[in-house]
Amino acid sequence: MNDTRDRLRIAVQKSGRLSEASLALLRDAGLAFRTSRDRLFLYGENMPVDVLLVRDDDIPGLLVEGSCELGIVGRNVLDEQRLAGADAPTAATIQPLGFGACRLALAVPDGGAIATIADLDGSRIATSYPALLAGWLRAQGLRADIVVLTGSVEIAPRLGKADAICDLVSSGATLAANQLHELATILHSEAVLARSPHALGAVPTQLIERLCARIAGALSGAGARLLMLQAPRSALAAITQLLPGRERPSVVGLDGYPDDIAVQALCRTTPDWQQLEELKRLGARSVMVLNVERMLA
Ligand code: ATP
Ligand code: ZN
Repeated sequence: MNDTRDRLRIAVQKSGRLSEASLALLRDAGLAFRTSRDRLFLYGENMPVDVLLVRDDDIPGLLVEGSCELGIVGRNVLDEQRLAGADAPTAATIQPLGFGACRLALAVPDGGAIATIADLDGSRIATSYPALLAGWLRAQGLRADIVVLTGSVEIAPRLGKADAICDLVSSGATLAANQLHELATILHSEAVLARSPHALGAVPTQLIERLCARIAGALSGAGARLLMLQAPRSALAAITQLLPGRERPSVVGLDGYPDDIAVQALCRTTPDWQQLEELKRLGARSVMVLNVERMLA
């Protein structure tokens, strides 16, 4: 699609496991939205960025045809469509987003005839991910009939439609409830930020890059803490050694106390009590750990 748009479009799952976290991430990245009357769009109110709400399976296609510049989708969906599309252009992953974790796993009925991966040879395997499964079978040197199902894959063995399944699993509770257990993991997946393969003529590249940087910032800020303390200047080297993550700390003088300093350090995770006590032993005072709301690297 070669329309000239000055607004960036980002495709997000309309309703499902990724929806809430995807929108929360965009809000963390500073976007504010107004919902369209038909609930298909979220109009960006403070940046020229709109969200298109769609089925997750449609997201790779929207990126490939250029209807959207960015999308948030499971790696499983992206990889399946990439493999199924052979040499067609595909959406590129910009970065993993840390939510929607799951794995594409091969599972078989408890106490059944298939006990090892080798036993899958000649079996029928039900899946919604035929391309990923075919690739894995090829790599294992196995032959099997792939039964393509779009939903309720886990009941296929009980219905006599398949001997094994290849499906998404997170906790494994659904497998257990269906008397199935995992034999192998085919793919580790999570939600990723993906980008259209097209030369992005219509929408300024600058805008896309700005949004990607904001998303990266929102992600790296999650869990980050600012550690602040005062200490004798002589303890600086020992304190720096102890700082979690050992980012470059800022060190400033304290007015009227030439032998003391104030230290600020960004930590990727919350320093634990033991680390704080250790800092105290080295002479640190007024130790504070603060949440980091936003970060722009
Ligand atoms: P849609 O109506 O958008 O097609 P869907 O039923 O295909 O929805 P969901 O079940 O909401 O999709 O899953 C969306 C994505 O969430 C999956 O593609 C996967 O990346 C991720 N996910 C995380 N955990 C699981 C899980 N236990 N089962 C299925 N998907 C999971
Ligand atoms: Zn789907």
